[in-house]
Amino acid sequence: MTVVVAATAAFIVTIDGPAGTGKSTVAHRLAKRLGLEFLDTGAMYRAAALTALERGIDPADGPRVAELVRDLELRFDWMTDPPALLVDGHAVGDRIRTQEVTRAVSAVASNPLVREAMVEAQREIASLHPRLVTEGRDQGSVVFPDAHVRIYLDARPEIRARRRVEQLAAKGIVTTEGEILAQILERDRLDSTRRDGPLVCPRGADVVDTSNIEIDDVIDRLEQVVRARATPARIAGDDDSAADS
Ligand code: C5P
Repeated sequence: MTVVVAATAAFIVTIDGPAGTGKSTVAHRLAKRLGLEFLDTGAMYRAAALTALERGIDPADGPRVAELVRDLELRFDWMTDPPALLVDGHAVGDRIRTQEVTRAVSAVASNPLVREAMVEAQREIASLHPRLVTEGRDQGSVVFPDAHVRIYLDARPEIRARRRVEQLAAKGIVTTEGEILAQILERDRLDSTRRDGPLVCPRGADVVDTSNIEIDDVIDRLEQVVRARATPARIAGDDDSAADS
């Protein structure tokens, strides 16, 4: 008797873009809508920055941060929604979202050895979870350049700053638009000028500017982009042979 087991075909959607474009929320909701899993790669860099701070390591101390990341076990709990990030087995929760971590993370993310470790970890995650919406700064350009759909989300800096202020306010953190705008512009600068995996619009990516679009409409737009690029069978994961561009 021959048993034919249908392999679930991989389907990867990458979403890159600068800080404050709503990537995480959008990627998570798009993943749900398409029946895919969701990977927040910014959380991984944030977890490295948080751990460095907690252990008294200067985030700009390249060799020590690289050594730290080499020994760090970063894992997602795929049973929670969104998947919770565990560092050495412990959930980090919102501790990776503080202003202190946000200020430290670009230095950590510009470290080539840290990036190398993260890229490897992300590809490993994708080999185990091949039906994925993954978001970050380098997902379509470096980590998954052959992803089925590559999206670049953008928005004007003032709009991104306003959204961030509202997000932080919802968590009880009071900031000003001026302060957040300066932080966002500095993070954009650091993220786009670093040598390894700089923030760029990936080759062949669909660019969506979210400046004047409400979140629900952004999700609709992205779903249209995905459906224009891939067949329903490919999206559903039951078409190994589909040659979507
Ligand atoms: O997306 P989020 O704001 O959580 O990302 C935090 C930081 O992590 C970014 O500012 C960037 O420096 C870094 N990052 C990165 N590459 C990724 C995801 C995030 O360099 N793929």
